[in-house]
This record gives sequence, C-alpha cells and structure tokens, in this order.
Amino acid sequence: MVEPTYMIDDLFCPHCKHVNELTFAEVLDKDEIACRNCGTMIDISDDKLQARWRQDAQNIKKMEHDRRVSGSDHTHSDDSPLSDR
Ligand SMILES: [Zn+2]
Repeated sequence: MVEPTYMIDDLFCPHCKHVNELTFAEVLDKDEIACRNCGTMIDISDDKLQARWRQDAQNIKKMEHDRRVSGSDHTHSDDSPLSDR
C-alpha cells in the first residue's frame, strides 16, 4: 500500500481540459495556479471553491488524527505523542 497523498483531482483547465492533480497546500488561499499541461493560469480564488477545499482538508486531518489515536498505524512513531482527547 502506497503512502496516501491527498490530492484534489477535480481542477480541470478551462483551456486544454487537463485535470490538474494538486495537493491542498498548493491551492488553499491561492488566487490562481498554472495548468500543469499548458501553463494557463486557472482562477481558484472563488470563495466556494476555497471553502470546499478547506473543509475537505479539515476532514482529512481529522481522519488522520482519529486513525493515529486508534493506534492502528504504528509506522509513524516519529510523530508527536498521542493526545488524550
Ligand atoms: Zn491547460
């Protein structure tokens, strides 16, 4: 099983229709981003878009946290100690 990386896969380029796979870090709080295929600047400043990505990122963070607390994943022992929440 490959280490999961969380990508946004629904940002397609209006110019060449290339679907840009981006991480949340690459798109959150950004106004625009260059298409990986043709270099066209894609406007991502839309509030609804940003809000959805932020929500998704939070959900993923929460999922990660829950999984770590449940103790099913011992491969990341170099992380911060478990919080007793
Ligand atoms: Zn493009």
